[in-house]
Amino acid sequence: DPDILVAGETLIDFLPEHPGSLREVETFTRRPGGAPANVAVGLAVLDETPWFWTRVGDDPFGEALVGTLVEYGLPDDLVERDPDAKTTLAFVSHDETADRQFSFYRDGTADTRMKPGSLDDDLVEGVSWVHLGGVTLASEPSRTATLELAERASDAGCTVSFDPNARPELWPDREEFERLIEEILPHVDVLKATPEDLAEAGIDGDGTDLARAACDRGPHTTLLTLGGEGALAVATDRAPWSGEATHPGYRVDPVDTTGAGDAFTAGAIAALSGGGDLGEAIGFGNAVAATTTTAEGAMTALPERERVERFRAERE
Ligand code: ATP
Repeated sequence: DPDILVAGETLIDFLPEHPGSLREVETFTRRPGGAPANVAVGLAVLDETPWFWTRVGDDPFGEALVGTLVEYGLPDDLVERDPDAKTTLAFVSHDETADRQFSFYRDGTADTRMKPGSLDDDLVEGVSWVHLGGVTLASEPSRTATLELAERASDAGCTVSFDPNARPELWPDREEFERLIEEILPHVDVLKATPEDLAEAGIDGDGTDLARAACDRGPHTTLLTLGGEGALAVATDRAPWSGEATHPGYRVDPVDTTGAGDAFTAGAIAALSGGGDLGEAIGFGNAVAATTTTAEGAMTALPERERVERFRAERE
């Protein structure tokens, strides 16, 4: 059975053909998405197939998503189909500065209806690592389900990793996001975030100081990704690995950075759960992420382990 459990949203992203406001864009490409789904698929492609707990609507989009997950080798045991809800949709646009904005169709949709108590104790106690994200914290009952799973996994001795995935469009205000991040972090061991995620959660600073400030909220380890500048990591003395690490990333010609952060997370989890140290976690994570940016789509370009190793060998 898998040794890792990933839980959270699977949704359809509609990516615009051109930059500009959603008032004008007429043509979109449909892609499977959802940060936890990207992480789960990334782990499967790296040959670390996890359990994936998610919930889709009983509709053609849901069927397509389940098909994609299964195609990538994920077990569908924990993939729920909701007869009374639609699959979540997200329309993406890029403003003048190329920053992404999201327009979510997520009121009462399937992933918001993931319920606490859905997973057997045996399953949670049978894995050593659980990965969660911040999007399912934005609505009930998936909020309680996510908080409960973090707490249960932590009590069961699993390593709990978490990516806040700040999406202001999903939250009534910043205070609410800040409050939920504050509530989950004491149950989190490994936090993966960008400086923007942390600023949105009211945690400010720069570089390793910022990562240390994040560790003060609960996690024993913080991995900060810095886009084209790579990543850094900080661990406190509560962590099973030690010290700090920085890695400048790999220079590539990015075609599409969607899901790069999730690819990094998959790589870092694979490295740390396999006994790697912090330097290996961010080096491997950066290599998985950089490779992912060289083709369209968050999932299609996720690399196999052998490809990551070849890529790193060529660069170092
Ligand atoms: P996303 O939200 O798009 O999934 P993110 O905002 O969570 O990504 P970033 O810090 O932008 O996360 O990127 C994650 C990782 O992807 C970086 O640490 C780096 O390894 C890789 N990456 C991102 N952009 C580039 C780039 N232009 N060149 C090389 N690597 C990149």
